[in-house]
Amino acid sequence: RTFEEAGFPDYVLSTLLQQGFEKPTTIQSQGWPMALSGQDVVGIAATGSGKTLSYALPSIVHINAQPTLQRGDGPIVLILAPTRELACQIQAEVSKFDSRPDPRWIVIGTPGRIIDMLHGGHTNLRRTTYLVLDEADRMLDMGFEPQIREIVGQIRPDRQTLMWSATWPKEVRILAEEYLKDYIQVNI
Ligand code: AMP
Repeated sequence: RTFEEAGFPDYVLSTLLQQGFEKPTTIQSQGWPMALSGQDVVGIAATGSGKTLSYALPSIVHINAQPTLQRGDGPIVLILAPTRELACQIQAEVSKFDSRPDPRWIVIGTPGRIIDMLHGGHTNLRRTTYLVLDEADRMLDMGFEPQIREIVGQIRPDRQTLMWSATWPKEVRILAEEYLKDYIQVNI
């Protein structure tokens, strides 16, 4: 598989080539067509597999298909991650591909931080249509389930949801059954 076959806009393709990447990783070549078709996806993959770009590049395509944000709108894409460190890494990776000046298009944060932003009235999830739960097993291990539930409860049900996890224990399966629709599972 090649990057060209994935169907990304030219500016995404040129950044992939600039990075010196030669071809998609397994999780990317399997995950991109599913994510781009609008389906819900569960990916079982560890860090180092290229999982961040498996959900982040389709999220850019998703954003491009949405009407422009208006005053008072919250993010179109929300990415939840277990730690601030991981959230910053994701942000760094996404910003190489998406240089949109308005930070509201994509919000990336830990469940605790997003709850604080919601409670403080600093953002809202009324326009969110693409939700990513990254390292879901770790978020549950860290006790974030109540915060995840509160956040997802505020996002419209006709969203696209992508869940990534290094492992596939019962707790993660329960969350997937509850929050994803007819999802496809990608394992590497
Ligand atoms: P991740 O698994 O998302 O944490 O990514 C691990 C590292 O692989 C990151 O530094 C990415 O920039 C890099 N990476 C992502 N996709 C590719 C690819 N197709 N080819 C080479 N490196 C990649």
